[in-house]
Amino acid sequence: MDLAILGGTIVTMGSRGIIRDGAVVVESDTIIDVGRSDEIKRKYPRYERIDAGGKIVIPGLINAHQHAAMSLLRGYADDYPLREWLENWVWPFERHMTGYDIYVGALLTAVESIMGGTTTVNTMYHYLEDYNEAMAFAEVGLRGIIGHVCFSWRKDHDRKALEELARKWHGKVNGTIRVSVDPHAPYTVDPEYMRKLRAITSDLNEKYASSSKPIIWHTHLAETEDEARKTEGSFGVTFKNGIIDYMNSLGVLGGDVVAAHCVHLTRRDMETLKMRKVKVAHNPISNLKLASGVSPVPELLNSDVTVALGTDSPCSNNSADMFEVMKFTALLHKGVNKNPTLLPAEQVLRMATIDGAKALLWDHEIGSIEAGKKADLAILNFKKPHLWPLYSEVSHLIYAVKASDVETVIINGRIIMEDREIKTVRVEEVMERAEKAREKLLERLHSR
Ligand SMILES: [Zn+2]
Repeated sequence: MDLAILGGTIVTMGSRGIIRDGAVVVESDTIIDVGRSDEIKRKYPRYERIDAGGKIVIPGLINAHQHAAMSLLRGYADDYPLREWLENWVWPFERHMTGYDIYVGALLTAVESIMGGTTTVNTMYHYLEDYNEAMAFAEVGLRGIIGHVCFSWRKDHDRKALEELARKWHGKVNGTIRVSVDPHAPYTVDPEYMRKLRAITSDLNEKYASSSKPIIWHTHLAETEDEARKTEGSFGVTFKNGIIDYMNSLGVLGGDVVAAHCVHLTRRDMETLKMRKVKVAHNPISNLKLASGVSPVPELLNSDVTVALGTDSPCSNNSADMFEVMKFTALLHKGVNKNPTLLPAEQVLRMATIDGAKALLWDHEIGSIEAGKKADLAILNFKKPHLWPLYSEVSHLIYAVKASDVETVIINGRIIMEDREIKTVRVEEVMERAEKAREKLLERLHSR
């Protein structure tokens, strides 16, 4: 569809900065022009118009760490330490999840994400052939990277799932779906298997991907204080300099690795992240909820490490709201460092847009509003008491906006939500399906 979005304030996150009374022109899936409204009206008189007068247009937000299917566990287990939470609650529940449950959970997260202005989600979960997260994202129209999470105890299964996922989905759905290889964590993936997964990733890239559209890695690293000890205990390895340094010694780190958390880092770990150009996905709400600690984000940013933002799962957050994540990010590091100048609003907005795109190696197509990029946009209504008066759009975006202020969302040039109505699926029906899936899951869980 050819579209001209006119009259809004365009927060480009690109070289044009903020354009007041601005306009964005979209042809098919691509932004072809960005400028002042009056010029654009003259240049493109016949394009279908969206009146964004008095509204704010931003690049769609990028959630760099999510487990989309886990929305079915939202509120199922709160207020436990990570290990107990995983071993006594999450994993037993998940053992009963079918492909269909995964698909329905991801449908729900996709809808929730879009309703909060998120247009790209990097999700790590189990890929099954019959139903999966990729199908759900494609159905709703959400852009995403769909991973398959790998564990030492199921190597054959992983190999088949990764091959199938890459063959069927990488670069598909008009280029909106990409895939990733997801070693779960250093304590669940043995050193030999880590290296093997690297080789598998190279092989999959050769067969199904290209340098501008790569199959990346998505993993959990340095989430909890005892991770090094757990890894040593699991695999009989020993190391002195921290978990990142250990991963580096295996030769598996690189610029295509998205490492979620990076909370407990040694000085050497931070140097290694920088040297290997590893991308960090910071999940402040999940880290706080599971009491994992606080990632040294200001130090990482000072060392020029790319830090993106994520919600983590709807069971450890418990929402997919990236506006909340941005606000927590801006506040948390000020508070723990007793320094109100850290993580200013502009920087945090970059982390959820252009730096998120860089982390996913997708920044030549998404993350900012610039001619030549894919049209992933969110339009917000600021004419509300909690967003009034207005001194700075960026300040409101970080400190005052709610997900419900997002009115319209465009992904890959398609209007997916207009005036808060999702166009691609019936939201009521998605919720009903999620409720039924939850009931059946609980039945299976309790009839063990
Ligand atoms: Zn996670």
